[in-house]
Amino acid sequence: MIASSDSQAIAAELRRVANDSLNGESLQRALARITGADDSSWRGVMRRLADLIDPPAFLTTPFICEKCGGEWPSDIRFEDCPYCGVEIIND
Ligand SMILES: [Zn+2]
Repeated sequence: MIASSDSQAIAAELRRVANDSLNGESLQRALARITGADDSSWRGVMRRLADLIDPPAFLTTPFICEKCGGEWPSDIRFEDCPYCGVEIIND
């Protein structure tokens, strides 16, 4: 989950390192560490940067049950609310 406070903290650390030095760390390792990439391969770092720049919709807009207010990532399609059991109408 990417909160805007996370991306602000990451940007602040990137700016700090840009004005300092990598201290022998490779750019890829530094980016993986600073951005908190789960996958520190170059592909993983690029995907993490893409998600930070343009967060996938499911990370930013959870599905919310109209009956009970339960929330879950909207990329998960339930037929019934996992909290209250009401039938979910996916549009
Ligand atoms: Zn519900």
